[in-house]
Amino acid sequence: MTPRPTRTYLDWNATAPLHPAARAAMVAALDITGNPSSPHAEGRRARGIVEDARERIGASLGVAPRNVYFTSGATEAANWVLSPTAATGQRMPLAALLVAATEHTCVLAGHRFPAERVSTIPVDGQGLVDVAALAARVAELTRQHGNGSVMVAVQAANNETGVLQPMAQIAEALAPHGALLVCDAVQAVGRMPDVPKADILLLSAHKVGGPKGVGAVAFASEAVSPEPLIKGGGQERRQRSGTENVAGIAGFAAALEAAIATSSQAIAHARQLRDTLETGLARIHGGTVVFGASAPRLPNTTCFAVPGVAAETALIALDLDGMAVSSGSACASGKVASSHVLAAMGAPIETARGALRLSTGAATTQQDVEAFLAAWHQFIARRAQRAVA
Ligand code: PLP
Repeated sequence: MTPRPTRTYLDWNATAPLHPAARAAMVAALDITGNPSSPHAEGRRARGIVEDARERIGASLGVAPRNVYFTSGATEAANWVLSPTAATGQRMPLAALLVAATEHTCVLAGHRFPAERVSTIPVDGQGLVDVAALAARVAELTRQHGNGSVMVAVQAANNETGVLQPMAQIAEALAPHGALLVCDAVQAVGRMPDVPKADILLLSAHKVGGPKGVGAVAFASEAVSPEPLIKGGGQERRQRSGTENVAGIAGFAAALEAAIATSSQAIAHARQLRDTLETGLARIHGGTVVFGASAPRLPNTTCFAVPGVAAETALIALDLDGMAVSSGSACASGKVASSHVLAAMGAPIETARGALRLSTGAATTQQDVEAFLAAWHQFIARRAQRAVA
């Protein structure tokens, strides 16, 4: 029997391991000396790498390559495009931004919209946006401010729960009002077979096996053009200044292509792992709650809690046992805060505080899931023993 590795990585939604194709593309690009803006041969070689990546990412997403702009990640992408200046030409500036309550924090704040023009779209207990209520609100704002005056931000897949929003239905509901749809596609692209249809897609390389610190905005049309956020040398056709991260961009294209090419196998694999995991969780503790269990979900994501078990304590114990998992809560600063996603879904605070998120990927095995279940079983049993002692 092969010995188990010392660590079990079940946190692919936080970041996915670097794909070998991305590593190879990056290593090759790191040896290119030129600055992509330099007109000499060295510069042209670097430019060639960036433009080749743009072509391939555009083709993968089904958008014109010239409408793909590289950024330092999805956070910067959101900061750039969530702006009243992102209008379609006829109406400046946009009058309102509607943001789904379960958006990632990089979208939730609304960024360059004045706070009074930002409002939240509620979700139901499964984390799904009520499309009819959203359409009614957009219709009301459109009556007040005119066609094309509203921006709506809805993510395709939630990073904590994996819940998938009905993006096609949302796009259809917004179309008669000319509302601009921004979709944070970070967790969905490369993990689901279809690329969400939206006016603006936000993307991040490191969730699909690319490097950290690279992302992109993909516009469906050239008519949408928010005021640049980062100004300087005028790179990215003046939309995003700063010397391009050539190696990172090369890695992003390679990773995205690889993820899309294998997404159907990845989905089938993730479903099998999820079945083992969720059946095991229910067996270990009958009170286990899986958040968003009845909604369409990314098959690689399970966000669950056992009432009364604090996520922080569980995370530490599991980490000591070799398990890399995440709390379902935001913990960017290293501190576990209560999750706005679970709160928006109406989860009781006591249950939400115990939320753990497991997310798998191509390299995750049944053995990994079983190792997690064994560690979780031990943790729950130790707690029960302490409670009777
Ligand atoms: N949107 C979602 C759904 C995410 O999961 C993340 C990363 O955690 C981001 C946006 C931010 O992406 P980046 O790390 O590229 O800034």
